[in-house]
Amino acid sequence: MEIKITKTQNPQQLTEESKLGFGKHFTDHMFLMDYEAGKGWHNARIVPFGYLSIHPASTVLHYGSEIFEGLKAYRTEKGNIQMFRPMENIKRMNNSAERMCLPQIDENDFLQALCEFVKLEERFVPYSFGTSLYLRPFMFGNDESLGVHTVKNATFMIIASPSGSYYAEGINPVKIMIEDEDVRAVKGGTGAVKCGGNYAASNRAGEKASKVGYSQVLWLDGVHRKYIEEVGAMNVMFKINGEIVTPMLTGSILPGITRKSCIEVLKNMGYKVSERLLSVDELIEALENGKLEEAWGTGTAAVVSPIGKLSYAGKEYVVNNGKIGEVTQKLYDTLTGIQWGKVEDTFGWIYKLN
Ligand SMILES: *Cc1c(COP(=O)(O)O)cnc(C)c1O
Repeated sequence: MEIKITKTQNPQQLTEESKLGFGKHFTDHMFLMDYEAGKGWHNARIVPFGYLSIHPASTVLHYGSEIFEGLKAYRTEKGNIQMFRPMENIKRMNNSAERMCLPQIDENDFLQALCEFVKLEERFVPYSFGTSLYLRPFMFGNDESLGVHTVKNATFMIIASPSGSYYAEGINPVKIMIEDEDVRAVKGGTGAVKCGGNYAASNRAGEKASKVGYSQVLWLDGVHRKYIEEVGAMNVMFKINGEIVTPMLTGSILPGITRKSCIEVLKNMGYKVSERLLSVDELIEALENGKLEEAWGTGTAAVVSPIGKLSYAGKEYVVNNGKIGEVTQKLYDTLTGIQWGKVEDTFGWIYKLN
């Protein structure tokens, strides 16, 4: 694939790494390409970062035809740049596209776009451990008509945001509220794909939780309101009486790449990992009997996020005295070690850019 590059005339000054935050600063350029039925993907280009011009009837603005991915470019101690399992993101985005009737992208073209874009924005990949260049590929339906149908036109883009360490203030366990009113997804719906609409529909529960001091919600399945699904933008894992339990992928849970990697790392360390149904009753019973040893979320942004408190039906439970547990810490150290190049990658997960 040929990518036409138009460089900016106004390169920006880099923001101090300690002041980056998450998703607030963007690099000098962005990648775009267009899709038209019958013509396929074309006009791959990197242009100066800036506003888009969209027709007011554009599909995405009315019918939520949008999917995205999230991955990072990491800087190693030697100064090299690498990504973590980028093919997993590429495959997942194509799965999302299939579900949402958006066009798929050739895997090699996608990888090439990521690589060329990151190489061009190399100076934006921060240096400190825990910081990264967050990459956000996304696609939207872009027909200029109000008819409801599979789109004939789509736009694919990649933007990048130099981001600070998620744990700039140290790893503090989060407070999670188990949501029993709103549901995030049902089997057959879009819960297993990364689409913007899932997020729009989960904000209300998030707001409710945040009003009473919880940082995210833990979703229950939409049919029985009984089985644990996932947390906000993270999958979830528990250590119950020595067994690591994570909800099985039933079709309404997002198949996280961090989740998958954690399972592989844990099995490699000799832990028993069960992907199965876990009911909220079983979880509460384990909490009451002191059998719930650890709980944590997994996702690209935070990597591993310990859960210190859980609330359900008006009652609050403390997990592991509100501290990060041993397995959680080991997982965090191993995964971040591999990602930032401090620990040898025996799994073959690292994709080096230079
Ligand atoms: C992206 C996402 C995750 C985490 O997936 P990773 O590939 O590990 O980053 C979990 N749940 C939801 C709803 C997500 O959108």
